[in-house]
Amino acid sequence: MVANLNTQQFVELEEKYGAHNYRPLDVVIERGEGVWVHDVDGNRYLDCLSAYSAVNQGHIHPAILSALQEQAAKLTLTSRAFRNDQLPLLYKELSEITGYGMSLPMNSGAEAVETAIKLARKWAYRVKGVPRYQAEIITAAGNFHGRTISIVTFSTEPLYRDDFGPFTPGFVTVPYGDAGAIEKAITPNTAAVMLEPIQGEGGVIVPPDGYLARVAEICKRNAVLFIADEIQTGLGRTGKLFACQHEGVRPDITVIGKALSGGFYPVSAILADEALLGLFQPGEHGSTFGGNPLGAAVARAALKVLVDEKLSERADELGTYFMEQLAEMPSPHVKEVRGKGLLIGVELKPEAGGARRFCEGLQGRGILAKETHDHVIRFAPPLVIDRETIDWALPHIREVLNMP
Ligand SMILES: *Cc1c(COP(=O)(O)O)cnc(C)c1O
Repeated sequence: MVANLNTQQFVELEEKYGAHNYRPLDVVIERGEGVWVHDVDGNRYLDCLSAYSAVNQGHIHPAILSALQEQAAKLTLTSRAFRNDQLPLLYKELSEITGYGMSLPMNSGAEAVETAIKLARKWAYRVKGVPRYQAEIITAAGNFHGRTISIVTFSTEPLYRDDFGPFTPGFVTVPYGDAGAIEKAITPNTAAVMLEPIQGEGGVIVPPDGYLARVAEICKRNAVLFIADEIQTGLGRTGKLFACQHEGVRPDITVIGKALSGGFYPVSAILADEALLGLFQPGEHGSTFGGNPLGAAVARAALKVLVDEKLSERADELGTYFMEQLAEMPSPHVKEVRGKGLLIGVELKPEAGGARRFCEGLQGRGILAKETHDHVIRFAPPLVIDRETIDWALPHIREVLNMP
């Protein structure tokens, strides 16, 4: 069916028939290529959100597209009741690229976070010797780890949490960026500390230098697992394969998702060594679609693009340039520019009237960005962006940041 509807008509359909659990910009996208997307009215935009870093490789990357098409024509789903000829290769390639001995694939990021929590709890009972059902997991204020009941239990954002209890016991919250607070919160029952290396949804919050290294050391000294949620920061976004590598940290469990799919098809995973991931016994955990051959083929291609096109290095170089340019930009509204690689947040002053109107201003000039936490504009284009495109965007951003 060719729907000859305009933006307004699509928006009306969506508002009438769909749940209102998002408040998107009123741009209806029908096509994407690389860093660009096109709307139904024929306008072109630079995508500065990358689907929350799920399209690091750019929209419709040709190599990932052909992997998807080839695999879709051969075999898509077996369930894990049988083996398939893509998953073992994904396991091996993930291990070679990340340096972890094993992985466990899921679909959404939230499912992978749940998987990490289950593994940490099992480890606490079976290895550390925590009394049954007493395991505690320490998380940080301002976190975002997904939307399941257990995960919103430890959200500190009332909007994400307050109407959805009763909640899951076993979580402790400490301030983000304060390693001492973690050390104080550790008890004999602590199974794990789970953190984002940079809080993306929290407003691109970069912790103090040395924080991750200190947390990793505290965890090690106290026989506590360190779980890094790299669903948004991982796979090149911050200028290294994983953001924890900026501080030479190798967490016990790393959670990935988003760009593992290249934006094509949901794939997530947890990464760990055999001493940990080997704890799961047959039947203890699973997912009908997790590890399916279509997702595995897509993830293999998405990883190959990251490596072949040196996207981490690109993010490092171009992110440094983009952030410097933004930091030097005169504007009466900007309070701070921060980030790492191509994960950049521009925090506006409280009196600027919120980030939303600036995002709408950017939209009017062909740039799609999304406000996060009211006062922060996130700039996180696909990592395949080039300097010329950044140079094209800068004057537009400058004008918008100087709106009255
Ligand atoms: C997006 C995100 C998640 C959740 O991923 P979903 O695929 O939406 O479930 C978890 N953690 C972080 C850090 C994220 O950015």
